[in-house]
Amino acid sequence: MANENEPSVPSKFGTCCEGLKEAMAGEDFDPLIAEEEGVLYLAVGLVEMEDEEGEQGMIDHPVYFCPFCGTKVQDPEEVKAKIGDDKDAES
Ligand SMILES: [Zn+2]
Repeated sequence: MANENEPSVPSKFGTCCEGLKEAMAGEDFDPLIAEEEGVLYLAVGLVEMEDEEGEQGMIDHPVYFCPFCGTKVQDPEEVKAKIGDDKDAES
């Protein structure tokens, strides 16, 4: 018997509003906002891949507040703990 009180929760994000929920579900499109390893990322741009001609890669960045309703969805500390030290540090 299915326990309706315990729906499978694939993500802890997308619970604050329909906007985020729909953006993450991306049923008719490729979502630019996605969860990866428990961290919510927002694609902020496209970049040409140097190795593969014509291919574009996405630059994503952790988001701390929902872009739709402004709810805080995660802590910078929390994200840092999950992705390790600044993986963007590349100077
Ligand atoms: Zn929201």
